[in-house]
Amino acid sequence: MKITCEGHTNFRVISCGLVLDTTHCFIGASPDRIAYCDCHGSWIVEIKCPASMAKQPPGSFDQLPYIDNSSGQMQLKKSHHYFSQIMLYMAVCKKPYTDFVLWSPQETVVINVEFDATVWQEFLESSLYFYRHFIMPISVQNCLLKHQTSQQRLLLLLMICFMCSFFYVNNASIISRL
Ligand SMILES: [Zn+2]
Repeated sequence: MKITCEGHTNFRVISCGLVLDTTHCFIGASPDRIAYCDCHGSWIVEIKCPASMAKQPPGSFDQLPYIDNSSGQMQLKKSHHYFSQIMLYMAVCKKPYTDFVLWSPQETVVINVEFDATVWQEFLESSLYFYRHFIMPISVQNCLLKHQTSQQRLLLLLMICFMCSFFYVNNASIISRL
């Protein structure tokens, strides 16, 4: 699929691989592309090529379960996990909006989705809860099991306590509400 540069100055598109969040090290994003131009700054490009649309005629994208066309203008449903996915990408990559691209051999539709700080905050709180209650305990347990001597285990526990304090201080306002 070719991403065009019509209407932009010095337009370019790059692959960015996996980007880790600078505040929450356990959160990462891997958008399809990041686009840049001199006139609009930079933004996320996320591309979906739904197999169910491969042989459908043009104008069929509104049949997709994550598309709402009730207003006559196609929008990505906020209740769908694709919406959470691109909110995550925008938050981690610090981009203000996403071009959500739907492609089939018959047509291409671009839906512009802006960053929603409220949705992101809810997502972040759920992620922190999951990390604190499920990921972190298992990581600590696995680390402790790998170290044989009591001296090694004590040293590791002290390091983990230091890291946890850092984690809790950085997320105190959110964790206090969990
Ligand atoms: Zn531009």
